[in-house]
Amino acid sequence: SVPVITVDGPSGVGKGTVSRGLAARLGWQRLDSGALYRILALAAVDAGITLSDTDAVAALAGGLDIRFTGDHEDNEAIWVNGRDIKSAVRAEATGGLASQIAAAPAVRAALLQRQKDFRVAPGLIGDGRDMGTVVFPDAALKLFLTASAEERARRRLLQLRAAGQDAILADLCTEISTRDERDRTRTVAPLVPASDAILIDTTHLNPTQVAERVEGLVKD
Ligand code: C5P
Repeated sequence: SVPVITVDGPSGVGKGTVSRGLAARLGWQRLDSGALYRILALAAVDAGITLSDTDAVAALAGGLDIRFTGDHEDNEAIWVNGRDIKSAVRAEATGGLASQIAAAPAVRAALLQRQKDFRVAPGLIGDGRDMGTVVFPDAALKLFLTASAEERARRRLLQLRAAGQDAILADLCTEISTRDERDRTRTVAPLVPASDAILIDTTHLNPTQVAERVEGLVKD
């Protein structure tokens, strides 16, 4: 079947950079699964649905027409029902909303097949929290990235600034820690490494060093 490499880990750890790099080099598709949760959360708010009404949120998922366009850089447009909503999708506050709905089993179930459908030849890089544990348990290689919360907040700040947004480091650190705690302790698909995942602590590594380590694993 079509090979998959999974890249899981907490927010701001650099999964996007790693998975985009791999996808570009291998010529594979990339699934940004977090974007699906973010898009669904935004669509629910747009539709006036209370996020705690998880059945209504889940019901909305089936009707969403979501398309990612662009290359492997971080400049894809995200089209939902004909509108490019990329900057709203990337906002840190949207990550918090996504993590609220992501704790609901009905919501996760509603997005499961949509994620599996990204698995097309010649291969797929799956970026998220449960790529290796739930969505692609048969992946050929499973990576799980970690880094300290402070370092992840710092990286997220640089990312936001590059996108023309701003934030306060201490606030970001709190938001990221709250989100991770919720993701780690939820009852369905909690944020934990798959038993066969390779852990990479990136706290003291720069992007080039992370890429080198990952490339070494892909070649084996
Ligand atoms: O990766 P990103 O920050 O875009 O994810 C936003 C939120 O979506 C996460 O905090 C998490 O709650 C949820 N998510 C998830 N499973 C995934 C990807 C994201 O639960 N595979």
